[in-house]
Amino acid sequence: HFDVVIVGAGHGGAQAAISLRQKKFEGTIAIIGEEPKLPYERPPLSKDYLSGEKAFERILIRPADFWRERNVVILTGQRVVTVDADARTVTTDAAERFSYGRLIWAAGGHARKLSCEGYDLPGVHSLRTSTDVDKMIGELATTTRVAIIGGGYIGLETAAVLAKMGKQVTVLEAQDRVLARVAGEALSRFYEAEHRAHGVEVRLGVQVERIDTSNGRAAGVRLSNGELIAAQMVIVGIGIVPAVAPLLAAGASGGNGVAVDDHGRTSLSDVFAIGDCALHSNIYADGLPIRLESVQNANDLANTVAHAITGDLKPYNAVPWFWSNQYDLRLQTIGLSAGYDTAVTRGDIASRSFSIVYLRQGHVVALDCVNATKDYVQGKALVTGRVRVSAEVISDTDIALKDIQP
Ligand code: FAD
Repeated sequence: HFDVVIVGAGHGGAQAAISLRQKKFEGTIAIIGEEPKLPYERPPLSKDYLSGEKAFERILIRPADFWRERNVVILTGQRVVTVDADARTVTTDAAERFSYGRLIWAAGGHARKLSCEGYDLPGVHSLRTSTDVDKMIGELATTTRVAIIGGGYIGLETAAVLAKMGKQVTVLEAQDRVLARVAGEALSRFYEAEHRAHGVEVRLGVQVERIDTSNGRAAGVRLSNGELIAAQMVIVGIGIVPAVAPLLAAGASGGNGVAVDDHGRTSLSDVFAIGDCALHSNIYADGLPIRLESVQNANDLANTVAHAITGDLKPYNAVPWFWSNQYDLRLQTIGLSAGYDTAVTRGDIASRSFSIVYLRQGHVVALDCVNATKDYVQGKALVTGRVRVSAEVISDTDIALKDIQP
């Protein structure tokens, strides 16, 4: 028995244990994780871990001693397969059963796989875990051409790293622009041009038919128009499937994620959910239920749940933020741009240091800042205050964002 059982040893799971101990929670805590490793940071996987600049020890969320000293038990290499909400137990694929006082579901998601022929051939890679990346790195020496399916942040970051290594990289995107799900058109076009300038071939509006094979390995991506994008390595970055099946089977409400309230509580008694798998109502999305896939959301929801468990209820209202590193470009995003009606460029895109400010009915809802940390820092108050501002004022770089008053 543990007073708190956390399922998932990723960003959210680790932070939940850290926050509970910070709040002087003295009960027993166990984290059960299916990966064989201690909790580590996922963002470097498509950045400086893939490039080899950071070794695994440097991406651990905390060193092993930290968990021992705080009496947090971490059970790695075990997947929770069933939850019994009445008996308050979880059972793992190693046939171990644990009872809980509170259960925190922090299982994130698994990389979505292609559904076409050849999806599981050797040479076809997902990018979600350090094991995925280790496999990829192991094949890089014999790889000259890489096809990346999916022009989202993970696909583009991976393209940047591999292009810098001298690989011939093609990004295949079904939409008519990269980052279509998360960014406005100006930002998409900027990144498209940057990748092309770095030698990456960016193919938009293309449909994958199947993965072609040669000698039992992937040989390239066959498009629906018959064209073959030859590649020894195919990387699939098409999003995640939330890892929630055991919890939904136990009766928790949800579908595309587990539904939680403002305190991270699911519909099951004493069961919470956080991170990528938590379908929560976010005030920056008009209170509509959404899942956010970011370190910010995993950490802040973990804090919210630690508050709820220690009886100090604080509703979730953190402002969303995110970052992405590609080449020498540091993108920092604050707020949620979905639903914007006007995108204003602040600064000169050609200078590679600028911001896109997203407005809805004249109010600031989000900023995408490229090599513009000052705008990112000062823009936060505009987003949290939903400040009303004209396009003329916000695009005037002589006016600092901190000087724009509500
Ligand atoms: P995870 O960190 O995924 O942890 C969940 C853990 O639970 C996993 O280890 C999983 O294997 C395990 N698990 C699943 N099911 C079970 C089960 N049944 N039993 C036991 N264990 C289970 N976010 C940013 O903000 N900025 C970035 O730059 C950024 N870059 C990223 C780059 C990559 C390559 C990836 C993959 C993600 C990136 N993200 C980034 C997203 C960020 O990493 C996630 O939002 C964050 O990890 C979510 O935390 P989580 O705890 O919800 O899930």
